[in-house]
Amino acid sequence: MELRKKTREVKIGNLKMGADNPILIQSMLNTKNGDVKAAIEQSIALKNAGCDIVRLAVTDEASISCVRELKKAVDIPLVADIQFDFRLALDAISAGIDKIRINPGNIGSDERVKAVVKKAKERNIPIRIGVNTGSVHPSVLEKYKTVCPEALAEEAMRHVKILEENDFSDIVISIKASSVPLMIDSYKLISEKVDYPLHLGVTEAGTEYLGTLKSAVGIGSLLSQGIGDTIRVSLTADPVREIYAAKDILKSLELIKSGPTLVSCPTCARCTVNLIDIANEVTERLKNVDKNIKVAVMGCVVNGPGEARDADIGITGAKGEGLIFKKGEIIRKVPENEIVSALFEEIDKLD
Ligand code: SF4
Repeated sequence: MELRKKTREVKIGNLKMGADNPILIQSMLNTKNGDVKAAIEQSIALKNAGCDIVRLAVTDEASISCVRELKKAVDIPLVADIQFDFRLALDAISAGIDKIRINPGNIGSDERVKAVVKKAKERNIPIRIGVNTGSVHPSVLEKYKTVCPEALAEEAMRHVKILEENDFSDIVISIKASSVPLMIDSYKLISEKVDYPLHLGVTEAGTEYLGTLKSAVGIGSLLSQGIGDTIRVSLTADPVREIYAAKDILKSLELIKSGPTLVSCPTCARCTVNLIDIANEVTERLKNVDKNIKVAVMGCVVNGPGEARDADIGITGAKGEGLIFKKGEIIRKVPENEIVSALFEEIDKLD
């Protein structure tokens, strides 16, 4: 692991991003525009799952009302995702938004940019410049002939310069691509050019399995090189699954130590229980546990408890029975079909 690159600090609601602050996890609402109740419910679910920042698409007056209601109902920093309409940016800021995602080069005249910057400054709101492979300006594409890391970085810098010329520096940048190598190289390039916090993500990553895998490779590679201040795992799935995936990426790199970590063996001929189902059930149930513990799910008593000696608590199959072990020592024997419930009884007892 390389040391984390030092970036500037920006404030988003009651959180700080960049510098030495924790890497923040974010997601985006996918509820129907105007369905305030659903937006509130999903924001609460995201927060409960461990999400730090919630983003929503702001496309019209109904979305602005939604921002107002969300700010009243849920205590989580909120980001407005705006495509081209500078008036929506102004309205979202008035409605209490904590950050806006807008590309200043796409909103028209200098006056419009100045109006947004002025209001963002007054309210101490950062702006995220979000570049992706589909949004590169024709002049930049013409220069590079293809969407390459240099083109994406130059496109990001085009927007950065507009904000800097307006004396605005509360900037966050994302450069997303669905190609993992392109995304990695683009972020590396932009991180050499600026010290603004970077929002990492692989865009259009896919459904839960493939999207998590691609995000883990892309986001994880960059984080391991000390690049990145906030992450969004984009999945064609319930946004809550994005939070679980993001937390697991951060845990894998030992960048967060909160919540349980699961280790489970791959099974072999020594395994006498249905360990795959057991491990999947334990994984799901652990999502509701917030203790900093290591939990082992092992297939046999010959190697299981020994191999998982450093686990705080674990289970292993043993010919129709289940054994519970603590730091490698067997503490309880239960029928196989009670193994998961017995494990969670023991987890409840842990400090
Ligand atoms: S713990 Fe036992 S069942 Fe699991 S892989 Fe190791 S030897 Fe095989």
